[in-house]
Amino acid sequence: MPDLIRYYSTNRNVPPATLAEALLQGQAADRGLFLPERFPQLTAADLKSLAGRPYCDVAFAVLRPYAAGVFDDATLRALCNDAYDFDVPLEHVTGRRHLLRLDRGPTASFKDFAARMMARWMSVLMRQQGGELVILTATSGDTGSAVAHAYCGVERVRVVVLFPPAEVSDRQRKQMTTIGGNVTTIAVDGQFDDCQAMVKQAFADPALARIRLSSANSINIGRLLPQSVYYVYAYANLADAAAREPVVICVPSGNFGDMMGAVIAQRMGVPIDRIVIATNANDEVPNYLRTGQYRKISPSRVCISNAMNVGHPSNLARLVDVYGGWMDETGFVRQPPDLGRMRRDLYAVSIPDAETRATIKDAYQRHGVILEPHGAVGWAGLTRFLSDSPESADHLAVCVETAHPAKFPEEIQATIGVSPAVPPSLAGLEQRRETYERMPARYEPFRDWLLARFAQS
Ligand SMILES: *Cc1c(COP(=O)(O)O)cnc(C)c1O
Repeated sequence: MPDLIRYYSTNRNVPPATLAEALLQGQAADRGLFLPERFPQLTAADLKSLAGRPYCDVAFAVLRPYAAGVFDDATLRALCNDAYDFDVPLEHVTGRRHLLRLDRGPTASFKDFAARMMARWMSVLMRQQGGELVILTATSGDTGSAVAHAYCGVERVRVVVLFPPAEVSDRQRKQMTTIGGNVTTIAVDGQFDDCQAMVKQAFADPALARIRLSSANSINIGRLLPQSVYYVYAYANLADAAAREPVVICVPSGNFGDMMGAVIAQRMGVPIDRIVIATNANDEVPNYLRTGQYRKISPSRVCISNAMNVGHPSNLARLVDVYGGWMDETGFVRQPPDLGRMRRDLYAVSIPDAETRATIKDAYQRHGVILEPHGAVGWAGLTRFLSDSPESADHLAVCVETAHPAKFPEEIQATIGVSPAVPPSLAGLEQRRETYERMPARYEPFRDWLLARFAQS
């Protein structure tokens, strides 16, 4: 059994936690974010041995040391098999450039990967500890459905999703309201901010002490570690691992959780030469790397890659930490990171909507590849990096596509005149029966509902 890995808080005002504690707490008590104290190493031989193996095998190999002492091998093995039962296509585009499609999970976004593993981890912990966990989530779209699907049918965990009906598309709503079982959705007569305020108030309310509440938002370490797996998977399958061939990885980014997965893979020994961070017009991080001055963007800018409309990425404190700096929970840089090293490892670029659309068109006309707006931001970022860096122009390069094009039919139809085929995960949604509760945008009715529903026993 390898040594147990503990998880420290980026604010360093609490003792390091076990994976079990970090998963169930979400955010550390000092309001910092958890990170592993060390990154286990994958050797060239390890990487080589993973070539051609199913995704669930790679997940097991990568996650095993992080889970040691908390989840035994047989348990983790079974969870990986159960969580990763869908395709992970690696698509050749042109030259040595590839697309890693992370869109074949039940909600057709990359968020399925980590959410499904986190849900299963939490379920095992609750079985060990006894009792039941109630996950509260407010959503304005994709997160709610990924979380709801991830926990669907998972024992000892119940999920309550609050959403603002006016701000959620029909398809997004149906992805949440047709699940049922241990998942309850509530249409709140208000805005996303109201939903979020109701959830926050519930977490702080002593009257709910009898209910074990938790959250599944993207700062949970359980939503991060599994996102390192797909970079290992891509490398093992495309690169000459024995020769430690370098690879360029490009990640379209909003809250930087997906991108931190690439940083973790790099720290684990995957020969990632550069991580290209592609943002939309929310360019606070490209500006930060360029100038060394961090300024949030508020309110965030509205772009067609709407899941990346983020003016202050919640995972940025983790990136600053691994480069030796300290960003506190307000987004203030208390100690600057090693910017020189960040500039060597990372390349951050902001892509405006016009270039995103031009990239969707170009990828389709020249390569027959359909990109959706988030992946197109990534592809545009990779293209810019490669033309900016002649020494890397022939390198192996992988860009992640974070959602299925069929989630954005209007945009794609308008840009290239085709409507993307609907994957099985999104098909038949129209016919499924919806059930959801309705509630005013006030805390008291929500509290009473939670008590009536979950505080009986
Ligand atoms: C959430 C999301 C992103 C942004 O991911 P982060 O981890 O927040 O950077 C990108 N694309 C899609 C489709 C998403 O749903």
